[in-house]
Amino acid sequence: MCVVAHPDDLEFGGAAAVARWTAQGKEVVYCMVTSGEAGIDGMHPDQCREVREAEQVESARIVGVDKVDFLRLPDGVLEYGVPLRRAICEEVRLHRPDIVLTNNFRDTWGGRNLNQADHIATGKATLDAVRDAGNRWVFHEQLVDGVEPWGGVREVWCAGSPESSYGVDITETFDKGVESLKAHSAYIEGLGWEDFDPAEFLEGMSRATGQRLGVAHAVGFEVFPMGWGS
Ligand SMILES: [Zn+2]
Repeated sequence: MCVVAHPDDLEFGGAAAVARWTAQGKEVVYCMVTSGEAGIDGMHPDQCREVREAEQVESARIVGVDKVDFLRLPDGVLEYGVPLRRAICEEVRLHRPDIVLTNNFRDTWGGRNLNQADHIATGKATLDAVRDAGNRWVFHEQLVDGVEPWGGVREVWCAGSPESSYGVDITETFDKGVESLKAHSAYIEGLGWEDFDPAEFLEGMSRATGQRLGVAHAVGFEVFPMGWGS
């Protein structure tokens, strides 16, 4: 299960890895904490929400993901805390994943490239929510209609962390990743970055990470085992 703050967060790095996993027969679900409705300067959030949800569903489909949940918490002003943990915990209990992938929660992307507040809140809350999900007495009100605690998440992976020490070879699925980023066309257009080329952008990152892994293209993750050890 991938839990991220915004539509496009996965497509700026992790989606090619998702394409690899779905091609291997793994089931992947997406959970968007916000709908990225504050992401386009020239478009009101009411309209933007619809546009961006549709773009996210399409970009998920491209990498083999049929299920996208939208929690519709407010874009740009997410707060790390119990309400966010509760919302993500419920998703973990409903989907019962083995591995949870989330945002980089470090202050930067490396160097002085600052991370964004929603990503930090989501990444931190997801790490907590994964443990909350296994405790029957935390958010106990969620345990109705057959919903049970779920303590089966083995690892949480943070995409694009400057502390990444784990790499996934995405050489075979790099093009799928590019295609999935291109699906966010209204958003990319709204950024107003002149001559932005999704393939070139993703290639810059994936080649550098690939070099560390000894392959053409790779994406890096900071991996946290749940429980003690390793
Ligand atoms: Zn984002």
